[in-house]
Amino acid sequence: MDSIKYLWEKRIKIIQNNIITINLKRTKSNMTSDRTKVPENIDPVNTPVYLKDKAYQRMVGYAYRYSNENIEKKNWKEVYGILIGTIKEKNKVIIDDAIPLSVGGRSGIELDPIHYVDISQIDMSIYKSEIEGEGDLSEYIIGWWHTHPGYGFFFSKVDTITHLGYQGPNPYAVGLIFDHTKKTSDFLGIAALRLKNPKTGIFSKYKIIEVQYFSEKAVIKKKIEKELEKIRNNIDNIVREIDYIEEVLIENALVKLQKEYGMLLIPKNNEITTEKIEQHGIEEDRQFIWDSKFLKKSYRIPKYRKNIESLINKYEFRLKNMVTENQSNNLKSQKKKYQKKIVSQLKPSYKLYNKIKKDYEERMEVISPFFNYLDTKERLVIEYFQKKNFDYFKILEHLKEKANFDSIDI
Ligand SMILES: [Zn+2]
Repeated sequence: MDSIKYLWEKRIKIIQNNIITINLKRTKSNMTSDRTKVPENIDPVNTPVYLKDKAYQRMVGYAYRYSNENIEKKNWKEVYGILIGTIKEKNKVIIDDAIPLSVGGRSGIELDPIHYVDISQIDMSIYKSEIEGEGDLSEYIIGWWHTHPGYGFFFSKVDTITHLGYQGPNPYAVGLIFDHTKKTSDFLGIAALRLKNPKTGIFSKYKIIEVQYFSEKAVIKKKIEKELEKIRNNIDNIVREIDYIEEVLIENALVKLQKEYGMLLIPKNNEITTEKIEQHGIEEDRQFIWDSKFLKKSYRIPKYRKNIESLINKYEFRLKNMVTENQSNNLKSQKKKYQKKIVSQLKPSYKLYNKIKKDYEERMEVISPFFNYLDTKERLVIEYFQKKNFDYFKILEHLKEKANFDSIDI
C-alpha cells in the first residue's frame, strides 16, 4: 500500500505543479543509501563510463526509428530516454539499460507530465525489486540519453539545464548522446558527457568522456545491424498493432465490454486527473474493495455487476436460512442450482472478455519482440490495456468464486 500511496502522491504533485525537472534526489531509489556520496580522493566528473550491450542496442534501436539513412535528413527527429545503472567501487559507472521515453522534433524534446509519471514508475519498480531482493542491489536512474542526429556531441543550453537535474543531486550522473552519422568502423556513435562544475549552473562547461564497452566493438556492430534490419522490416506493423490496441481494443472493445457487461467501478468525478493521464492510467486501486462506504460515495457500480451482486446476496440469504432451519439435505443441491444460475449470468461477459483477450494476445505476438524499442506512450497503451483487462477479469473471477457459496455450510 505504501508504494501505491507514494506513487499516487507523486502523480498528484506532478499534475498540480506540472513539474518540469524531476528531482532525482527525492526518487525512492536514491533515498535508500548513500551511494551518490563521493569519497574525497575521487573526482566523479572523470569516472569512466561502461555501457552494456543491451543499453546500447536499446538506444540505437529506438533512435533508428526516427533518424536513419532511409529518412530524409530534414525529417530526422531527436529522441530522449533515461539510463539505469550502478556505481561500482565509487569510481566506475556501469549503464545496464537505456529506456526510451519520447520523441521530439528536429531539435529538442519536451516531456509531458506522463513522462514524469513513467520515470517515477520506473524508479519505483527498481526500488521495489531492490527492497524485495530481486533486482541488482545498487541499480537506479543514473542519467539520461538523447540523440543529436547529424550534429555531434555537445550540450546545448537546454541540455545543460536538463543535465543539471541529474548531475546536481548525483555527481556521477552521466548524459549520453548518440549521433548515428558519427558511427565509424571503430566508433559506435555514442559519447558520454558530464558538467565540469555543476555548481556554476547553466554556465558550467561540459566534458566528453569516452564510453567503454563490454564486448568487442565489431561484435556490437554486427549485432546492432541485425537488430536494425529487424526493426526496419517490422516497425510499420508494430506501430499499426499498437494503434489497434489503442483504437480498437481500448477505445472500442473494452468500452463495449464495460457497457454491455459492466464490472469496473465508474468514478463519480474525475477532478484529480488531467486528460492524458486519465486516458492512460491512473490506477483505480479501489476496484476490488467490496462494498465499502467510501466506495459508494466515490464510485458507481455498473448495472450488470449490481444485478449479479444482488442475485448472489439474495441466494446467500436463502441458503443461510436453510442453514438456520437445518435443511442440510437440500443445501448442497440448492447451492449447485444457484451457482449454475450465476455462472450462466456471467457467461456472456466471459465470452466477450476472452475474445478481446485473444485478439490482444495476437497483437502482442508481433509487438513483444520489439518491446525494448517502444517509448513511454507506446508502453503505456499496452500497460493500460493489460490493467483494465485484468481488473475486469479479477472482478469476474471474484463474482464466480462468491457464487460457490463456500462460506455457507452446516
Ligand atoms: Zn541535445
